[in-house]
Amino acid sequence: MNIGENLNAVKARIAEAAATCGRNAEEIKLIAVTKTYPIELMNEAIRLGVTDIGENKPQEVRDKFEYVLPVRWHLIGHLQSNKVKYVIDRCSMIHSVDSIKLMDEIERLAALHNRDIDILIQVNISGEESKSGIDPQDLEGLLLHAAELKHTHVKGLMTIAPKAEFGDVSIHFENMQKLYNEIKGRNYTNVSMEELSMGMSGDFETAIKYGATMVRVGSAIFGARNYNN
Ligand SMILES: *Cc1c(COP(=O)(O)O)cnc(C)c1O
Repeated sequence: MNIGENLNAVKARIAEAAATCGRNAEEIKLIAVTKTYPIELMNEAIRLGVTDIGENKPQEVRDKFEYVLPVRWHLIGHLQSNKVKYVIDRCSMIHSVDSIKLMDEIERLAALHNRDIDILIQVNISGEESKSGIDPQDLEGLLLHAAELKHTHVKGLMTIAPKAEFGDVSIHFENMQKLYNEIKGRNYTNVSMEELSMGMSGDFETAIKYGATMVRVGSAIFGARNYNN
């Protein structure tokens, strides 16, 4: 496996997908998802120009952080309140915020560490029971709650689409884009719709078609994952 080739291929696919729908590829940030992959591969990717990496477990961020070259870290997986301590000083963005309780714990620790942190609200757009994220009808409560926070800033939305083998996922990306644009048109304090984080190795081109500004790509860059690592 050649990470450089894979990375170039993914970048070319992003550029192609953007061009197809008349978007500028510069608007789309590639987050290299490094969960389960070893530190050497992460550093190789960073040397090849990766600027943003995503991990889905807070403990993995904690364990890898000091060995990895300077890069922006994103927490993209489920976060329990008692694990915020592992990411608060290490991640520049948390994509997976789905409760007021979690917003408050992030705010408490951000204040304690005297830093600011950006968050995305994770939406369960497909309504699948197995998915984390909040129901679209509960989103407004979190957006209103942002006004209470000083160190924690809502910058957009995130979603994980169902696997493509369950049928066409376009509708979920399309619904996310509608939701994102609706919120953009309203005025919530401490909320700005700058980032729409959606799309993974299997579906990022479709996500780009529906306005993704961040795509989270792992296996297309690093190869198949071994969860026993
Ligand atoms: C693992 C993961 C990804 C990347 O998945 P690939 O299919 O390997 O590209 C993206 N987002 C989240 C939340 C993940 O956990």
